[in-house]
Amino acid sequence: ETKASSNFIRNIIEEDVKAGKQAKIVTRFPPEPNGYLHIGHARSIWLNFGMAEEFGGACNLRFDDTNPEKEEQEYVDSIKEDVLWLGYKWSGDVKYASDYFDQFYEWALHLIKAGKAYVCHLSAQESSEYRGWATKPGKESPYRSRSVEENLALIEKMRVGEFEEGSCVLRAKIDMASPNMNMRDPILYRIRKASHHQTGDKWCIYPSYDFAHGQEDSIEGITHSICTLEFQDHRPLYEWFLDNLPVPHQPKQYEFGRLNLNYTVTSKRKLKQLVDEKCVDGWDDPRMPTVSGMRRRGYTPRSLKTFCDMVPVSKSNSVIDVSILERAIRDDLNDHAPRAMCVMNPLKVVITNVVDGKVEDMIAAAHPSKPELGERTLPFTREILIDRSDFSEDSSLSRKKFKRLVLGEWIRLRGAYIIKADEVVKDSNGEIMHINASLIPDTVGKDAPEGVRPRGVIHWVSASHGVPVEVRRYDRLFSHESPDQGGEDFMTYINSESLSVITAVAEPSVASCAAETSFQFEREGYFVADRYDHTPEKPVFNMTIGLRDTWAG
Ligand code: ATP
Ligand code: MG
Ligand code: MG
Repeated sequence: ETKASSNFIRNIIEEDVKAGKQAKIVTRFPPEPNGYLHIGHARSIWLNFGMAEEFGGACNLRFDDTNPEKEEQEYVDSIKEDVLWLGYKWSGDVKYASDYFDQFYEWALHLIKAGKAYVCHLSAQESSEYRGWATKPGKESPYRSRSVEENLALIEKMRVGEFEEGSCVLRAKIDMASPNMNMRDPILYRIRKASHHQTGDKWCIYPSYDFAHGQEDSIEGITHSICTLEFQDHRPLYEWFLDNLPVPHQPKQYEFGRLNLNYTVTSKRKLKQLVDEKCVDGWDDPRMPTVSGMRRRGYTPRSLKTFCDMVPVSKSNSVIDVSILERAIRDDLNDHAPRAMCVMNPLKVVITNVVDGKVEDMIAAAHPSKPELGERTLPFTREILIDRSDFSEDSSLSRKKFKRLVLGEWIRLRGAYIIKADEVVKDSNGEIMHINASLIPDTVGKDAPEGVRPRGVIHWVSASHGVPVEVRRYDRLFSHESPDQGGEDFMTYINSESLSVITAVAEPSVASCAAETSFQFEREGYFVADRYDHTPEKPVFNMTIGLRDTWAG
């Protein structure tokens, strides 16, 4: 069961709504399109879209696209797709920070005319020396006192491309002695002679995050601008721009703690490195903590929301145990996924008292407690397959420990007969080739007769009617609990055995399913038909999660 946990952002919004501060709350999710979304972004989406939903407001999807070099259309597309998949709808059209570049430029001119911004030619190195550090006041740039006319002429030259990249920037004139480094004449514009995925070659100067973000919020009428903790120190600057520009609206910024998961990394830069160095098969590899990776792994939007509900929204960054995420999907699939049988490591069993060629259809419920999911047909034939690990010749194994098939004893086949293992047939190397068994008639869906004690119930498929399926099993991508903090580069902790692929044999009902259909393969775990590679002719299943948390101990 899930328990709605504390959320101080909700409390703030609730108070504002009660006090009638705004007619309607407006939030936004503002990704930079420089990578695919990850679990941390899902958290921010859940919070921004979720709060808007809960309080009858609106949430914008806005691309914070002020860095032309690192941004791409592919990322824009994937982000939109992920937000929709998570089950959210943005208000109106998708927004882009770049939609406002003309307005930002006007506002830059406004600050220059008010004597509050100047073009500075210090090099990056000089700039950082002049800036000082937290305990040492900075020094004013020698360009700080140039005239308004000179600044206007220079910014125009910057805009039309007369200066080289890096040769100058536009800075706000605030306070070089401020204890807050962000207030020491921050950069408003820098020169980047790069094509932009939205504006093409129209601009060669681009606004900084700080000069853009609050103004974007203002233009869009955002009431609650929710961001992560690292922007707390930027808040005075966010407010300084709103106070010093003729903006249409006053948004307010609130910060909450970033969500991180153990055994993985949640930074687009690092995830990109995994992709670029081919440690994974793309951003949506099922081992990735990206939204599209988790989707391909078989996570459901509902399970991700449940996970977010379980983790408190707090004022500090946190590392959440990945087992909490895994529990959310396991519980969800336990409730919703139909059951099926799939034998991972097949061993043939010949049932000698069944006529060759005869097919008897067994009927089984798709889900033990959800009759609405219907039934499935399990063809039962003379030759069936069971898992090798479900058979032993050793009759000294205790009934408690080994609830499987033992030579000379009985087992129930799930949804079918009770059988007895009569004989083991081996090859010249002593390898088991198959087992000869016999069934007890009239035991389908009925108790065992007097004197017959099956050790347990095992899964099986018909050897002739079962379908070969490719099964991809995953282990953690990193072997270290905190790959970011292990002392070595995070890449050294990659688990080289995080993927294994086998061919298994499944009951026929699973082959025809649509891509992205999830099943519980009984006694094995939860599996999903691969989003891209699965076809009825060549079924491919990805393991989502095991039946139990095997990492607990
Ligand atoms: P990364 O370090 O992965 O690049 P980012 O913060 O630079 O993350 P953005 O594209 O700027 O990525 O993020 C869009 C929104 O998602 C921002 O409001 C950001 O604060 C939020 N966000 C990003 N990562 C997390 C996280 N781990 N937990 C919660 N919110 C996050
Ligand atoms: Mg970033
Ligand atoms: Mg960012």
